[in-house]
Amino acid sequence: MIAQLGATEGLLTMLTERIDSELLDAAKRLRVISQMAVGVDNIDLDECASRGIAVGHTPDVLTETTADTAWALLSASVRRVSEAADHVRTREWGPWDPELLLGDDLWGSTLGIVGLGRIGQAVARRARGYSMRVLYTGPSRKPHAEAGLGVIYRTFQGLIHESDHVVLTCPLTVDTYHLIDAGVLERMKPGATLVNIARGGLVDHEALADALTNGTIARAALDVTEPEPIPDDHRLIDLPNCLIVPHIGSASVATRKRMALMAVENLHRGLRGEHLLASVDLSIKSQLTSQRGNKA
Ligand code: NAP
Repeated sequence: MIAQLGATEGLLTMLTERIDSELLDAAKRLRVISQMAVGVDNIDLDECASRGIAVGHTPDVLTETTADTAWALLSASVRRVSEAADHVRTREWGPWDPELLLGDDLWGSTLGIVGLGRIGQAVARRARGYSMRVLYTGPSRKPHAEAGLGVIYRTFQGLIHESDHVVLTCPLTVDTYHLIDAGVLERMKPGATLVNIARGGLVDHEALADALTNGTIARAALDVTEPEPIPDDHRLIDLPNCLIVPHIGSASVATRKRMALMAVENLHRGLRGEHLLASVDLSIKSQLTSQRGNKA
């Protein structure tokens, strides 16, 4: 890819491309990067800012679909749907058993949302149908969401301590890398569920595997891992209380079409020197490309 970048003025990228200074050095004529995703943690935003390269992404069009997936994972995990389906597939289904594959309840429980942005709020809206108490945490209070959705602000530690189920919907940044580590898992409820619909780097997977094995928390459901794909020999794959799907958060036909069209439109606008439909705020120092591994 780097060898072909000499004359390139615009790039359409996926989250699988690492856009760092080495790549940008080879693309001296680059004016716009259009990412077909909302998360941009694969792009060195500081480098783009210093070179005057606009960065576009695809927010909003994937919000509801991604929240649907978060909900599918939460619900499947809490009610052990994947294990139950395996039970049938392996021909183990015997007579009805009052204690077979017991899970926990979603309805009436306390949901903690880490990052009440577009997707976090869409997850909160779905929780209302389940009569759940919804807590949220993040850098800023959201008075409109508190009034409109009935969500309650907590500090990160407070949310971790009180929630029956925790859903991660915040971006991966230098501040959130391994946000969920061994210490945090220890402070979660023993029956808690962790759902990661955001980015794999938010969770220390070794600590999570320990916590799921030791019963520190009850279960986890991951749409995203670090790295992706998760290595074949990773112990999380075989844990019955860990449900992993291959980054399908926004994977509906209609949403992927909307994302593709928006990314192409951003690219065209950038090449014409116009405002993008959605551009990333390059003043935010959020990229991890050069700093991954240094937990803030
Ligand atoms: P968004 O609207 O920007 O929301 C992100 C929220 O996270 C904001 O409310 C922000 O708070 C909060 N936040 C930032 N730093 C935080 C921290 N340290 N602790 C807790 N909260 C923090 O973005 P979005 O559209 O909802 O998307 C969120 C993320 O989901 C994306 O960055 C992407 O990585 C991921 N995603 C995954 C998929 C998938 O396929 N699995 C699909 C789409 C998106 P403030 O409002 O106070 O700044």
